[in-house]
Amino acid sequence: MRQHRRFAFDLKRLILLLALVSTVITLLTSYLAIFQVEKKLLIESSLRASQSYATRLSLTADLFFNAAQKQVAYSADLLGDEFDNIDALTEEADRLHVQSKRFSSVLVVDKTGVVRATSRNSAEMVGLKLVSDANTAALLTQNPVLSSPFRTAQDSHIMVLSSPIRNARGGYLGYLATEIDLSKSSIIDTLINARNYRKDAYIYVIDREGDVLYRDASGWVESVPQGHVNKALLGDREQGYLRMENLQGEASLAGFATMEVAGWTVLVLHPARADVVLLYNVMMQVLLYTLPIVILVFICIWLLTRYISMPLRQLASRADTMDSEDVSQEIEQINAWYYESSKLKTVMLQGIRLLHQRIEKLSTEAHTDPMTGLLNRRGFYELVDKQLTEASRIAVITLDIDHFKKINDTYGHDVGDVVITQLARLILDSSREGDLLCRMGGEEFLLLLPGASVTQAIQLAERLRRQVESHHFEGAENVTISLGVTHFYPGRDNIDGALKAADKALYQAKNEGRNRVINL
Ligand code: GH3
Ligand code: MG
Ligand code: MG
Repeated sequence: MRQHRRFAFDLKRLILLLALVSTVITLLTSYLAIFQVEKKLLIESSLRASQSYATRLSLTADLFFNAAQKQVAYSADLLGDEFDNIDALTEEADRLHVQSKRFSSVLVVDKTGVVRATSRNSAEMVGLKLVSDANTAALLTQNPVLSSPFRTAQDSHIMVLSSPIRNARGGYLGYLATEIDLSKSSIIDTLINARNYRKDAYIYVIDREGDVLYRDASGWVESVPQGHVNKALLGDREQGYLRMENLQGEASLAGFATMEVAGWTVLVLHPARADVVLLYNVMMQVLLYTLPIVILVFICIWLLTRYISMPLRQLASRADTMDSEDVSQEIEQINAWYYESSKLKTVMLQGIRLLHQRIEKLSTEAHTDPMTGLLNRRGFYELVDKQLTEASRIAVITLDIDHFKKINDTYGHDVGDVVITQLARLILDSSREGDLLCRMGGEEFLLLLPGASVTQAIQLAERLRRQVESHHFEGAENVTISLGVTHFYPGRDNIDGALKAADKALYQAKNEGRNRVINL
């Protein structure tokens, strides 16, 4: 019984596993690399986009403030010569208000903070003493001031842009203040609100300290601080980008740019997770694009694995049946297309050839008498069945050397052996193909002659007897043999009966004086 050990893995599965694992690892690594690169690119590009949008807003606001400041400075310059002429002051303030749509009102303020003249729409303010921060700043610095937005006593939400007024000798007289009404649709609000950037972005404007002046949804912040951004995060750069939290504490990507005139900073932020969603969409597309190729690669791997493992698999399965008759032919047909398989195939074929030769040799040895080369008793009984089925009649001759004991005694056992060997030669020479020639033991022989008639058998026996009688055996003289002849029909008679009859005939030949042929 063959013991079959069951293996969980064979070469095909192993190669397949190896190929699949390495392909999957390669794919995953590639996807990861693509993911990282895409993430970096995406984040960087959206940071840059935010930065450039912030820069655009800040430049536009800068243009506005610059132009406004120049206008105010120009008027303030004119007023230096006519500071005592109230009509002229009123005229110029009104001109500035009417000509430039930027300002909701224009005030001329003296160096004590009292309104000296106004544009006509704000005439009620003449004579009032101003107490706002913007007024204090203008008086203290005696420089151009752009105030943060604030709410006035009249409940309007404004910011103030002012420019100092000096006389011809440079003496400080006061300042020209223009108010920009933020609650009306002023141009700066429109600028910042002009949302042609991504929908999820927040836009903040912060002052030099980081206090929030403008906040996307709520517009210009009425009371400062209403939110604060740590300006240290931005460093001392004019513009740039960074990751930071928005005012709701959400992780965001921000671009910023600082306005030159106001010193305020525009911050454009959007939630970082928006980019992650985008990134996953990109990755899904990458997956989708590569999927057909991946499937194709897997199919190729599978086919190749089959192709590679096939010869070894076939060889291995034939190894189980090495002793079968046509295993050589089966192995011959295996397409061993690469070195190892071809080598194994050759070795297996050689092994099988040797095995078969060996089996044949052993079987021949088991069936043959080594001394004479004729069949032995076992060989005879194994071959006789075949003869019985093929021949219609069979003649049988039994043969025994006369007084062989005496030959042995007289000339020695070795000479006895020579006599046996030479007798076997004589028997062999007078036989035909298909005859079964057998040394049944000692100096007794049995000849089975398929298809031979009794007459032919008697003739053969007689011829043999004469040959032996006249043959010169080396070292021995007067060697004779006795023979018993019989025949039978395999379909009708029993072989054992025939052998007995032949023995009986031989016995009779011995009894009748030896060196003769008896047919029964
Ligand atoms: P008979 O004429 O009645 O046959 O007389 P025999 O002496 O030949 O008697 P038998 O056939 O019984 O003798 C067989 C002898 O053959 C006995 C044995 O010593 C001898 N013998 C058997 N095998 C061999 C052998 O291989 N070599 C030799 N040299 N002698 C053998
Ligand atoms: Mg004998
Ligand atoms: Mg004898």
